[in-house]
Amino acid sequence: MGILPRRGARVSEETQQDESGLGDTGALTRRILIGLAAGFVTGIVLNLGFTGTGFFAFLVDGVLHVGGQIFLSSLKLLVVPLVLVSLACGTAALEDVTKLGRIGGKTLGLYLLTTALAITAAIGIAVLVGPGEGAAFATTGLEYAPTEAPTLVQTLINIFPTNPFKAMAEGEMLQVIVFAILLGVAMTLAGESGRELLRFFDSANDVIMKLVFVLMEVAPIGIFCLIAKVIALQGPDSFDNMAKYFATVLFVLFLHATITYPTLLFLFARVSPVPFIRKLRAPMSVAFGTASSGATLPVTLRTVEERLGVDESVGSFTVPLGATINMDGTAIMQGVATVFIAQVYGVEIGPSGYLTVVVTATLASIGTAGVPGVGTIMLAMVLEQMSLPVEGIALILGVDRLLDMTRTAVNIAGDAAVSCVVARSEGKLDLDVYRSP
Ligand code: ASP
Repeated sequence: MGILPRRGARVSEETQQDESGLGDTGALTRRILIGLAAGFVTGIVLNLGFTGTGFFAFLVDGVLHVGGQIFLSSLKLLVVPLVLVSLACGTAALEDVTKLGRIGGKTLGLYLLTTALAITAAIGIAVLVGPGEGAAFATTGLEYAPTEAPTLVQTLINIFPTNPFKAMAEGEMLQVIVFAILLGVAMTLAGESGRELLRFFDSANDVIMKLVFVLMEVAPIGIFCLIAKVIALQGPDSFDNMAKYFATVLFVLFLHATITYPTLLFLFARVSPVPFIRKLRAPMSVAFGTASSGATLPVTLRTVEERLGVDESVGSFTVPLGATINMDGTAIMQGVATVFIAQVYGVEIGPSGYLTVVVTATLASIGTAGVPGVGTIMLAMVLEQMSLPVEGIALILGVDRLLDMTRTAVNIAGDAAVSCVVARSEGKLDLDVYRSP
């Protein structure tokens, strides 16, 4: 029960509004999917028919680039205020620290479990398929300058901000999360003053969610620009030898999204996965278009709370945390890529080696920021740990963008699935909202 009684009522108010015209979410999902498909077609036409022309440069580097970047920036601008405000409100709504510990424990446990499952499947399937065997891969002269990955100790210390404003200005999401949780706890402990501040935060939360709502109206155009540009630039050449690797990653991503999450929902939340899959199409399309869990966060949060019926007190805690640390799709890519690179270079990994890959890739995916391409940078950490050649990353870079888009969609689906399970276990999943069409 939150401090402010009207919090519970808001979901249904918003849902009604959603259904009353401007924000018809079904129609919005359709428009986003149309934007996605149109982006694909336009990209292919541009790539096949206009590469190298002035028209191509004008459209791809000009119009599509500008449109896509404006959409991305406007999504990103919401992330820091949204995480701060919604997480502080969510924590305060839990009202006591033991509850926070319990929900936090369950959430972290499930995030780790799903990631470990994802990477185990990735390694198993990659070993069976052998994406790095057969074709001849030219490995001489490959170069990849790895960005230095931080050590575990550094990462732990870095979670705690010395200056919350600096953390926000620099978009250090884990630090913002820690600050928001502390603020939420303090608001509950501070009696009337805390309640006053919470009322302010609660209103701010409403306003920011409205902003998300407005922005979603232009999402189909933004997605169109982002997809068309990527496809137009991504020539078929980059797929030559990489088709097997590409298909293996896609296959495991697909399995994880269509088997692991639905099973999790069915077994642990005792709900049908069908509404989940249907309602997640819009945020997954945005994730696909932006290749950034962080940028998709406003949309994921809105879907989880308003369409899947996860109470704000749970969703505003689990979703921002997930967008920052839960990256199942990324772990899948890292697992397949490690096996692929080992096969290309003819290195035998062995069972205990695979276990190390599971652990390191789980940590690497936690350390991956929810922005495009970071999963590949963190892959260097896994390869180094396994004493595999880091320059092998250069092989997969050509097809990485499309995989990045797909794995990001899986990353946010994982956040949403775990949020539903945790909410259900706390009696905070509104089944009427979850099941509603
Ligand atoms: N783009 C991914 C995300 O934002 C991270 C990655 O795998 O590079 O979720």
